[in-house]
Amino acid sequence: MEEHIIELPAHKLVKLLIRKEISAEEIIISHFKRIEEVEEKIKAFISLNKEEALNEAKMWDKKIAEGREIPPLCGIPVAIKDNICIRNGKTTCASRILENFFPPYSATVVEKLKEAGCIIIGKTNMDEFAMGSSTENSSFYITRNPWNIETIPGGSSGGSAAAVASGETTFALGSDTGGSIRQPAALCGIVGMKPTYGRVSRYGLVAFASSLDQIGPLTKDVTDCAILLKVISGKDGRDSTSVDIPVPNYLEHLIPDLNGIKIGLPKEYFVEGTEKEVRESVLQAAKVMEDLGARVEETSLPHTEYAVATYYLIATAEASSNLARYDGVKYGYRTREKTNMIDMYKKTRREGFGDEVKRRIMLGTYVLSKGYYENYYGKALRVRTLIKQDFEKAFEKYDVLLTPTSPTVAFRAGEKIDDPLKMYLSDIFTISANLAGIPGISIPCGFGKNGLPVGLQILGRPFDEGTILRVAYAYEQSTEWRKRKPRI
Ligand code: GLN
Repeated sequence: MEEHIIELPAHKLVKLLIRKEISAEEIIISHFKRIEEVEEKIKAFISLNKEEALNEAKMWDKKIAEGREIPPLCGIPVAIKDNICIRNGKTTCASRILENFFPPYSATVVEKLKEAGCIIIGKTNMDEFAMGSSTENSSFYITRNPWNIETIPGGSSGGSAAAVASGETTFALGSDTGGSIRQPAALCGIVGMKPTYGRVSRYGLVAFASSLDQIGPLTKDVTDCAILLKVISGKDGRDSTSVDIPVPNYLEHLIPDLNGIKIGLPKEYFVEGTEKEVRESVLQAAKVMEDLGARVEETSLPHTEYAVATYYLIATAEASSNLARYDGVKYGYRTREKTNMIDMYKKTRREGFGDEVKRRIMLGTYVLSKGYYENYYGKALRVRTLIKQDFEKAFEKYDVLLTPTSPTVAFRAGEKIDDPLKMYLSDIFTISANLAGIPGISIPCGFGKNGLPVGLQILGRPFDEGTILRVAYAYEQSTEWRKRKPRI
């Protein structure tokens, strides 16, 4: 049974729990047993919460035994990316500067998960402050891809993706500023969704680039993604950018055909530089969708080539401002050296931040500085609008757009770490959605080079996650990819 438990999605575990075929305690024990088995190799977690998790599980079992009403995700283990705050729980952003930060409040998504009955089993590793595509920028250690531990799990939510893929948790939350949920989901062979900007509250998410950041689910299948998205979505008075649009019951969108659906394949996403197996898997998926009733056509998003440059101007500008607060005074690390105030700021930041974070703070400060602001930041904002308009035009004609999630399958640890520009290209297909604020999902669509998973990205209209989930579900149900599991 145990092996079974760690492979099951939440919607199946809940059914077994209600029928009293398993207990919440068994679910939690199985996952911690799995963590003991594989965590030494995978290193997906920064902190674990075993004792409290077991106590909560026992509490739910008691309620179930007493026949009391229970919440919908009662007893289901969830892992949380370590840039999402939990009250009195260590939240490090995988940075030395926050190594001993215990926030006095919880993120709205954390409260919502708890209300839904989920059990938080731990906090996951990530690139420092979510800056990266491989989880190699963590200040603590690298996370490994469960499909091949020589390779990286993607990033920056690599810990969350690896934990789901390896059966250490049922599902997880990540954050996506330029692809950090979808890209690791693709590289680890699981489902990951970035919701529309404003769909999910960012209250309690440590800010990287506030106009791009969104929290979203990483799950074993599309049904779990629909369930988890519903739980975390909705207007929040504590995040003024969250939007008051009713949250549909996404499960109602999960139907097994695609009749009447129009799908666009943006030609800029199928050019040189993408691995052949990746391109072929995605085109093959488009054929499957045609067979399911969809109409598929080639389309164009003409400003795509400017997306990476635009993103690295806007994201670094916002990051340089957001990270100004880590000054050794308010919270977090402070240099041990006794010195004057200005020098204390400098030494704290020099010792507390890693190379990639420093690189971005410098770049962001530069593009916002007098004399350069208009030429760089101002221009990037205007190009951002053009990218957004490309999508608006495409969505007049198509319900969803289909692209690869990542140009490559998982690469070897160390392969790109010394070449930031190469690393930045890992998100070439995911970044535009953040600039435009639209939702996107990555789902497994095959296996490429060295037998590693390939991800398919489905992009949709703002606040139309329902249609994305429908397309993803219909495809998932007619294929078998999700049934293959990594052997660690
Ligand atoms: N890889 C991109 C970056 O390094 C995106 C990161 C993210 O989405 N948080 O900025």
